[in-house]
Amino acid sequence: MNQDLEKLISLHDLDIMILDLGRTDILQQEVRLGLSPDMALTELTTMREQLASTIRKRWMSLYAQITARYDNAVVPVIMQRCSGCFTRLPTAVSSADDRNEQVRTCPTCGRIIYWAD
Ligand SMILES: [Zn+2]
Repeated sequence: MNQDLEKLISLHDLDIMILDLGRTDILQQEVRLGLSPDMALTELTTMREQLASTIRKRWMSLYAQITARYDNAVVPVIMQRCSGCFTRLPTAVSSADDRNEQVRTCPTCGRIIYWAD
C-alpha cells in the first residue's frame, strides 16, 4: 500500500478516537483505554501531531478540506462502492491493479478511498 495512503488512514483513525473521547462517558473511557481521558487525549493529540508532520502538505490540505465537510474523510471501498456516499465506483477505478498504490478520492463525494481486501 502507498505510504501516504497508509498514513492518512492512521491519521483518520486517530481523529476518530479523539472525536470519540469527547462523546463517550468518562467511566466507559477509563475502562476501555485503561487511562484517564485527559491523558488519553494528550497522548492521542501528540501522536496525531507527530504523524501529521510526516504527511506531505498536499495530502494534509486535501484531508482538511474533506474533514471540513464530513466526519469520515477516509473510507474503505465495499462491494465496489464508496462507503462514504455509497455510490458505485467506475470500473476503471475499482479494478485498477494499483488501486491502493496512490491516494485516490471518490469521484462523487471527494472522500479518500482505499481497498481493504
Ligand atoms: Zn463517495
